[in-house]
Amino acid sequence: MRIQRREFLKSTVALAAVSGLPPRLDAAPASGGSYPYLGRTEEYAEFQIIDPGLTITKVESWTQGQHGIVRVTANDGHEGYGQLSSFEPDITAAVLHRQVARQVVGSDPAHIDALVDRVIDANMKFPWSYVCRALAGVDTAIWDLYGQIKGKPVCALVGGKTDPFPVYGSSMRRDISPEDEAARLVKLRDTRGFKAFKVRLGVPNGHDRDAAPGRTEKLIPTIRKALGDDIRLMGDGNSCFTPPKAIEVGRRMQDSRYFWFEEPCPYWELEWTAEVAAALKMNVAGGEQDNDLAQWRRMIRMNVVDILQPDLCYVGGFTRAWRVARMGQKAGKLVVPHSSHLALITLFSLHFMAAIPNAGPFVEFSIEEDANAGERLYNPALKVTDGKVKLPDAPGWGVKINPAWLEKATHLKTEKAV
Ligand SMILES: [Mg+2]
Repeated sequence: MRIQRREFLKSTVALAAVSGLPPRLDAAPASGGSYPYLGRTEEYAEFQIIDPGLTITKVESWTQGQHGIVRVTANDGHEGYGQLSSFEPDITAAVLHRQVARQVVGSDPAHIDALVDRVIDANMKFPWSYVCRALAGVDTAIWDLYGQIKGKPVCALVGGKTDPFPVYGSSMRRDISPEDEAARLVKLRDTRGFKAFKVRLGVPNGHDRDAAPGRTEKLIPTIRKALGDDIRLMGDGNSCFTPPKAIEVGRRMQDSRYFWFEEPCPYWELEWTAEVAAALKMNVAGGEQDNDLAQWRRMIRMNVVDILQPDLCYVGGFTRAWRVARMGQKAGKLVVPHSSHLALITLFSLHFMAAIPNAGPFVEFSIEEDANAGERLYNPALKVTDGKVKLPDAPGWGVKINPAWLEKATHLKTEKAV
């Protein structure tokens, strides 16, 4: 993949020299619009999981702390549970009931592709962030509803299996010294069998700053030395670096044989990230913040990143993440979703990765405590054994939302008499 990119760049530079035009990094073959439907089929035929004929009568939300649960109810009594995108869920729930639920209540859940597009279309003046965060709750609840109706896990509805799937241990901390970070990762390797880890570099959106003087430079080799050569390592810049600094950091990661450099530059600076990716031999990963499918198309066509990291909730749900994966598959790119905490997002990502054809080698699994997620929010909680997580075999997402958590949460509903 890397070699292809460099050859492509070389050929476009040579062409530019002949024509007198600047080299174009976005000149991938368009063939009259390679992806006119942004990852879905023209006929809305991608997902025909249940027969048409039901009506969604109710959309409910429960929010507490940083998480929010959604339930959809159909006119035959079937229910499905999903999750709003985490963080500021009370705001997201307001958007859900004000701007999204009206497009959902009264509609047929069988037509999920059309339904998610209708929500986006109806909110053209409020694009992406909170609309997608709210849509994710409805979309993932409808996928659970499908599972309840068909009696199958979500991954099995789209060709996947609930077999144990590898995960990587994802550190969220920058307030930790390289030595202490190395020590806790070694312990996790030895106790839970993780075979891959990701650490944090720089400062989020930090304009080349570091969390402590020299921390990034020291962390990169310290982690490699402590964990040995058999562990895959990744580093996440969280939009920290300008291209020159990112290339410098990336070369250090290459020297320590890291597998990917994630979000090296501010994520909206596609040209910056493409410059870094072209300068490095290692993989560059990104896309967790991106929720506009046309922006995803640009990222893929411009070869901005090698590994695509849609967040199933930020992007608007399982259905829209599937479209990102389809676009990536056509370009020969792997997908490893962003799932940075242990609420339902990691479960959604495991189902997703069990089913898509271009799944990367593992799913992101936070190693941090989250008092408001995991087994407090749903059961059974996800457990890492020998570096893998076994997906539950029960229908839908395969978990039960904890009634005690729901009881303490703020409840809102949009309902329509049938
Ligand atoms: Mg990240």
